[in-house]
This record gives sequence, structure tokens and C-alpha cells, in this order.
Amino acid sequence: MDPATENQRDTPAPYPSRAARPDIRDLALDELESALRDLGERPYRARQIMAWLWKRGADSFAAMLDLPLALREALADRFALGAPNPAFVARAADGTRKLLLALGDGERIESVIIPAGDRVTLCVSSQAGCAMGCEFCATARMGLRRNLSAGEILGQIIAARRFLDPEEALTNYVFMGMGEPLANYPRLARALTAMTAEWGMGISPRRITVSTVGLIPGMERLLADFDVNLAVSLHATTDEVRDRIAPINRRFPLADLIAACANLPLKRRRRITFEYVMLDGVNDSDADARRLARMLAALRAKVNLIIFNPFAGAPFQPSPRARVEGFQAILHQGN
Ligand code: SF4
Repeated sequence: MDPATENQRDTPAPYPSRAARPDIRDLALDELESALRDLGERPYRARQIMAWLWKRGADSFAAMLDLPLALREALADRFALGAPNPAFVARAADGTRKLLLALGDGERIESVIIPAGDRVTLCVSSQAGCAMGCEFCATARMGLRRNLSAGEILGQIIAARRFLDPEEALTNYVFMGMGEPLANYPRLARALTAMTAEWGMGISPRRITVSTVGLIPGMERLLADFDVNLAVSLHATTDEVRDRIAPINRRFPLADLIAACANLPLKRRRRITFEYVMLDGVNDSDADARRLARMLAALRAKVNLIIFNPFAGAPFQPSPRARVEGFQAILHQGN
């Protein structure tokens, strides 16, 4: 991004210590109802609190003004409530905003607001770092630092809302930030539940896309549990190349991955999106394009070609524009 467009924000009050108290943002509705019963409160208060958390984005119990003062104090004694703090925000000329968010233990993650036409998409992280080791990915160099909690996943949405322009609203959500979401499934599932529930954010699952590098059991579980969109990071048409650039392929090779995709329970004529990053001289030949078209011919699929964004020390270059266009043309011909 153009440094001239970057702006530094003051860091708000620190995120409460995760070790000290459970984060109320990690709770499902029934768990909060149970906690309220333990406090001698009526369970209906849980929906009031959830509305403050997810619809109004409250960042303190003190802000929940329609709760009795004694309950607000009891909640503050028992639970932490904090969102990831935007430590740095960079805004590009096209309106894309990259948020660097600080977690309570000092880990840093990224979320990105991407406006395009009538959509405003938020790219969400699911882990700090990533264990998958994809060779074309800067996050892979960090290794896996830790999983994000459901509250930290959801907190990115609350944090991002503060950086929307006045006329903007988030319309779409993609789990394509740091991390492999399906390697953090229990917390991803909690977050998806709160995102889509009527007591939570009330987001249509059709507006949510989970992207995976191809963890087959997780893909099957995800689509059994949630009616969200699935994107698969494919990036190669032979096991030889995919073994190298996306090492998870050694565990779930291409033939198994494609067969699993063919058997997924896709609802309402949904299509799987296959992500394919174009790496010069690695996976961008005409033969690759033909293999890709054949591989996906029997699936309800669409292909998203991605221009590689080089980073320091990256062993790849982006494919030239003419190569991308030639590849795309073969895909359109379907052979
Ligand atoms: S799974 Fe995603 S975040 Fe993880 S290394 Fe691969 S591309 Fe990067």
C-alpha cells in the first residue's frame, strides 16, 4: 500500500487478560443463559447481552445501559470483554483497508476491508500464523502461533465496523486471512454460529465463505453443519507441484481432494470456488490450464485466478498478464 495513505491510530485500552476471566464473546447463547442462572439472573437477559455484543458492538459492560447496574458489575467481575485492538490501519487508494490487530497476549493478526462495487467484504483471520506451510504465502513463514478464540474471530468484525466509511456496511465475509480455518474448527464453528444466529449478528450464511487449503474431513463437517460457501485453494494440477507449494497435498492428494469436492452436500445449486494463484513458470502453462479444466469439469465449480503478490524472500514471481489471460481463455474453452 502507498505509505502516503497509511495512518496510525491510537491504541485503545488494553484487551483484558485472557487468563484472568473467560471472554464473554466466546459463549453461545445457552452457555450465557446458564451463566446468568448461576448469577441468580433470569435467562432472558442473555439475549439482551448478545444484542449488545453482536448488534451494537458494545466494548464494555458499562455501555449496556438497559441492564441493571448490579448485573453489569457482576458480568464485569466474571467475564472479560474486549475486541482485538486495531494497532495499525493502512488505507489504499481503492478504499481497501488493512487492519493490523493486537490480541490480548501480544499476537498480531490482520483483517482486510475490501470494497468492490456494491459489496464490502471483510477478510477474516482464524489463526495467528499458520501451520500449513504453503510456499507462496507470507503467513506460512510465521508458523502457527496459536488458534484464535471465537471471540477473537468475531471481534475482527466488530473492530472493522469502526473503520467503515459513513455510507458503508459490511456485506460479505471471507475466511481467507491468516490461518487455515478448518484447522481451528471448534472455534470457527462457534464464530459461525454467532455470526448467523438471530441472537447474534444475523448474517445470511450465503454471505460467508470459508476458504481451505483442502482439509477434507473439515470440509465435509463444515458443509454438514453450516450452509456457507466453500473455497478450496488448489493452486496446482499435479501432485508433484502441489506437494511442493501446498504440502498438505502429501496428506490429501489432488485426486482425493477433487473426489471429496464432488461428494460434498452443496445446497441450493451452490458452486465451490477453486482458488488458483498464478506462479510464473510453476503452475501456469497451457497444459496446466487444460488439466484444471478437465479436473473440474464434473463439478459445480468456478475458478478464481489470483495474481501472486511477491513478498521478501518469496521463491516465485507472478505470471505475466498475457499468461494469465491465455490460461483464462483455455479455462473458458473448457478443455
Ligand atoms: S493455508 Fe492459507 S494462511 Fe496457511 S500457509 Fe496456506 S495459504 Fe497461508
